Amino acid sequence: MAGPYEPQIGEVPPHVAAARARYHAGLPASYRPWRHLAAPFVCGAAVIAGCVACLEGPALKDMVVVPAMWIFSIALEWRFHRDLLHRRVAPLQLLYDKHTVSHHSLYVDGAMEIGSARDFRSILFPWWALPALAAALGPPALLVGLVFGGDVGRLFLATGVFYVMVYEALHLTYHLRPSHPLRRLPGVERLAQHHARHHDPRRMQRENLGVTSTLWDRLRGTMAR
Ligand SMILES: [Zn+2]
Ligand SMILES: [Zn+2]
Repeated sequence: MAGPYEPQIGEVPPHVAAARARYHAGLPASYRPWRHLAAPFVCGAAVIAGCVACLEGPALKDMVVVPAMWIFSIALEWRFHRDLLHRRVAPLQLLYDKHTVSHHSLYVDGAMEIGSARDFRSILFPWWALPALAAALGPPALLVGLVFGGDVGRLFLATGVFYVMVYEALHLTYHLRPSHPLRRLPGVERLAQHHARHHDPRRMQRENLGVTSTLWDRLRGTMAR
């Protein structure tokens, strides 16, 4: 009987190569990868610019919402990844299918690289995800604004949207070739390795669930050893 699969850097296991062939065969001809990549950043930049333009002059204490929202987002991302991307929960089965079934079958530890821009579709959220998330953040931002002041609400919304942009940029970077210049930015290679270990099929359900940070994996004891 064959032993457990041990990834070799650069080796694409046959079942991953087969999954990639199926994925490429199913890609719609109308798919525009660079338009898809631009969507979250253009839309996110517009939301943040709108929030900043409406600021009335936040006090220093109001700025506390920025790190607070960032840490809250790290926690939320960890939980979202564990409970919605790796568990099939109605009516959000699509999230599980896109992430656990598709994304994790196309990239495994040792074979993390995309082949071309057309593979963006297998990494990025759908183009409508960031506008939808920004809209979902609207009511809580309004509530935060009512309780702590309008500027705090606007900073809450801008930070949440910026977090999603960082998530998308980092996740895509982890799936670029290791020699890519973006991988040399401070801390990025370490996070890419963290994410690669999450792509080990034996670990993906419960370890290295943080994508933008290892903080919540450390706090929750889900760091891969
Ligand atoms: Zn990934
Ligand atoms: Zn995952």
